[in-house]
Amino acid sequence: MTLMKSWVDSANSSETPFPLNNLPYGVFSTAAAPARCGVAIGDQILDVEACEQAGLISMNGALSTASWNAVMGAGQAAWADLRARLIEILAAGSSDQAAAAPFLIPQSDAQMHMPFAVSEYTDFYAGRHHAENVGTMFRGAENALPPNWLHIPIGYNGRASSVVLSGTDVRRPWGQLKGPNDDVPRFAPSARFDIELEMGAIVGTPTQGPISVDQADANIFGYVLLNDWSARDIQAWEYQPLGPFQAKATATSISPWIVTAAALDPFRCMTPAREVELLDHLKDTGPMLFDIELAVTLAPKGEAASTIARTNYNEMYYSAAQQLAHHTSSGCAMRVGDLLGSGTISGPEKSNRGSLLEMSWGGKEEILLENGGARHFIEDGDTLTLTGAAKGDGYQIGFGDCVGTVLPALSDPYGEAS
Ligand code: CA
Repeated sequence: MTLMKSWVDSANSSETPFPLNNLPYGVFSTAAAPARCGVAIGDQILDVEACEQAGLISMNGALSTASWNAVMGAGQAAWADLRARLIEILAAGSSDQAAAAPFLIPQSDAQMHMPFAVSEYTDFYAGRHHAENVGTMFRGAENALPPNWLHIPIGYNGRASSVVLSGTDVRRPWGQLKGPNDDVPRFAPSARFDIELEMGAIVGTPTQGPISVDQADANIFGYVLLNDWSARDIQAWEYQPLGPFQAKATATSISPWIVTAAALDPFRCMTPAREVELLDHLKDTGPMLFDIELAVTLAPKGEAASTIARTNYNEMYYSAAQQLAHHTSSGCAMRVGDLLGSGTISGPEKSNRGSLLEMSWGGKEEILLENGGARHFIEDGDTLTLTGAAKGDGYQIGFGDCVGTVLPALSDPYGEAS
């Protein structure tokens, strides 16, 4: 696959995250117009609500809400039809150019909003390197992986209410932390606040019973970058026996554009070799991971950003399709707009670690920043940014950044919050 040419000049660059090959879906507003569905093309946004009203696109009104849930609910054939029609409208030489050009808005004039209503949020623990690193830190190298890890993608049910759009500030949480003696906890601001570099898969097709890995793959509408903010000290005290709870409830940030599974199709790859054979209902049936280059930067307040990690989504042991298939195996119903976090994406090397917990090896080693300074965990005022792109021949499928700045903890959380 090579760069597909558009009549929107800025889309014809090898550097743009949003060439015609991509066409990610977002929700935007301008000073003149309330929030509505848009499609990124180069440095512009095509106002697809206006396109539908003008008769350029017909989606039975699904583009006339400030969310992509209605399009997802219209079904997989409609997803394909819409993408084909958008490519037709925006391709170089299109007969629709004159009619569509008035509906382009510069991205610099737009404010982004949540691209879809999150129905439910589930987060997994499906990165081999991450699980190995964290397990080694907490249980020693011999017991790093729990006995179930190579057989099921481990997950927990998170909170849809925790999911926020990129650019939303994140307040350092207070929580109950383990004291010097295990039996005497204290309530204090988290001192080990962290990120987790993940991909989020968005379920576009509702289901009622167990589905196969193939079906699950077809039911995934698209992907976003996802930062699962994590308070390690709260987590350490609370996580047994039911897993993380308040440590993960402060916020989960997502990037503003839904990159469709269709746009990522040329970048499909197999999961790594299985270390033990999976049971039949979770077996790989084809390439369902994606080759997406990922990075994390950290910028102290008022200072330049340092890249602190680089990795790739293709490092995951389980694909989102396997996670979704496992999720439904008990009969668990899935809804349009269900969000599945991949789990932290770390690679084999120290420079590939997707959390500060791993980069600092439990807070023991300094993470050196490019312009001086060092971190063990996030400090107040730090801005953490996730970036991602699938790299093709002379083009890329970019995601748009997933950004969050950490604000200081409230001095009196119950006093100030009430
Ligand atoms: Ca996570």
